[in-house]
Amino acid sequence: MEHNSSNFIKTIIKEDLESGKRDRVVTRFPPEPNGYLHIGHAKSIVINFGLADDFNGKTNLRFDDTNPLKEDQEYVDAIKADVQWLGYEWEELRFASDYFEEMYNRAILLIKKGKAYVDDLTADQIREYRGTLTEPGKESPYRNRTIEENLDLFERMRKGEFGNGEKVLRAKIDMASPNINLRDPVIYRVSHASHHNTGDKWCIYPMYAFAHPLEDAIEGVTHSLCTTEFEDQRPLYNWVVEECEMEHQPQQIEFGRLNISNTVMSKRKLKQLVDEGIVDGWDDPRLPTISGLRRKGYTPAAIREFVKETGVSKGSGVVDEAMLEHFVREDLKLTAPRTMGILKPLKVVITNYPEDQVEWLDAEINPENPEMGMRKIPFSREIYVEQEDFMENPPKKYFRLFPGNEVRLKHAYFIKCEEVIKDENGEVIELRCTYDPETKSGSGFTGRKVKGTIHWVDAKHALPAEFRLYEPLISDADEAEGKTFLDYVNKNSLEVVQGFIEPNMENVKPHDKFQFFRHGYFNVDPKHTTKEKIVFNRIVSLKSSFKLK
Ligand code: ATP
Ligand code: MG
Repeated sequence: MEHNSSNFIKTIIKEDLESGKRDRVVTRFPPEPNGYLHIGHAKSIVINFGLADDFNGKTNLRFDDTNPLKEDQEYVDAIKADVQWLGYEWEELRFASDYFEEMYNRAILLIKKGKAYVDDLTADQIREYRGTLTEPGKESPYRNRTIEENLDLFERMRKGEFGNGEKVLRAKIDMASPNINLRDPVIYRVSHASHHNTGDKWCIYPMYAFAHPLEDAIEGVTHSLCTTEFEDQRPLYNWVVEECEMEHQPQQIEFGRLNISNTVMSKRKLKQLVDEGIVDGWDDPRLPTISGLRRKGYTPAAIREFVKETGVSKGSGVVDEAMLEHFVREDLKLTAPRTMGILKPLKVVITNYPEDQVEWLDAEINPENPEMGMRKIPFSREIYVEQEDFMENPPKKYFRLFPGNEVRLKHAYFIKCEEVIKDENGEVIELRCTYDPETKSGSGFTGRKVKGTIHWVDAKHALPAEFRLYEPLISDADEAEGKTFLDYVNKNSLEVVQGFIEPNMENVKPHDKFQFFRHGYFNVDPKHTTKEKIVFNRIVSLKSSFKLK
């Protein structure tokens, strides 16, 4: 597999190896199991696993599970499955919770060095005392407790003698630091909550800013890659590693987050959409989750190639969703069988075609990949075409069916519209056409030309199918004042239509992918497909205005 092309992180790693600062490369992908992975995480995965692999290094999958109230085994399982599906193998599977004892001991070390203290201020008071960007913070009245008192209180915190929020352990750094993160950050809190791994063993939990550097140091991570919002935390990260006297010193390097237009990309918001029933679970095809993209029909290769194309830099621009679509088209072009499906059917009777005759026509499975061979399509007196391929009063340059006009049926014959049948409301319900037996596709007929080619399926043999067509879930990502992203949910994000497909698709399996003539690429939905009805998710339409630079 080809990984990251040159970028600033790769350059740093290369220099570290050449200078002897490092003799190996160890990275980690550190999700918190508080939701499903999204395509932003895929970026972190590709960068962490890819860079390590480029230097024959290794990558751990480590769950940053320090917040039991929000975490769950369901998320752990889903994240593991998603990382594997994307095509990556971790060296070791770790949990922050594996290190709780060691973290506790390191906190005691800080207390003993006079570098941490137990504080009784409330969360609100701590915020108030912290100061602002322009004003220094104020020291807590508990800041100068003796080491003995701090050791005693911290031990009693662990024993469960205090309620949630009653006491915290804070690092003693500098309340006047220009970097607010260094103004005595909280490093332990009381939380009487069951943990998915450690159960009720602990009622104090380390804060992310304290836990993360220790996890990296314990695992021998050389390059700890994270997104730029952690840049201001780097001094604290280094302080923790140094003051906790960790043998191994990891280096934190930040890169820009991935954002995609018309897409919400935060687990908190995604969870809200799931919990409020706005979408059909974490794997709803409209979500940018890995499981949603998979269900929609995205391939791991398409996601990886997309992420690589977005590059690695400090900046975090918004990438056009059309770029993601470009890569799935590229990946499916040669592998997806071509087929015909009618999404909104209109019946056509070919009046001069013999009543009981059926012809089995030959068609290529994929003209762009002849090795995929041929398929058989039945043709008889009654077929379905798309409603939108007929107009009673067409505008200029409409070359499809209208009274008196002749079109080519893909893989079959020319037909001519002779009569329009309507119901009592004036709705067109059927067309009567004639066909010209001379014009069979592949017969070499050159008598005359027609301008329109339309697709169809044989009415007697066709299988029923449901098609799910998607639009972006969020119509406007910019949140105006007083509004949240929920106010911008696109009401038309899902359209469900009932149509017909070629009978040779009888045995399709969930996740089989096809290119339906003119309609785009579709995936067999794993959740809603039944014996009676195949359900397709549209992955992407055929046309794109997107051009790779
Ligand atoms: P979210 O805000 O969506 O919940 P997170 O950063 O809180 O994301 P974590 O589980 O903590 O989620 O993330 C695991 C790793 O994935 C982190 O290193 C994080 O920086 C990275 N990551 C998360 N979102 C993105 C993104 N949009 N682009 C690149 N990397 C990301
Ligand atoms: Mg997080």
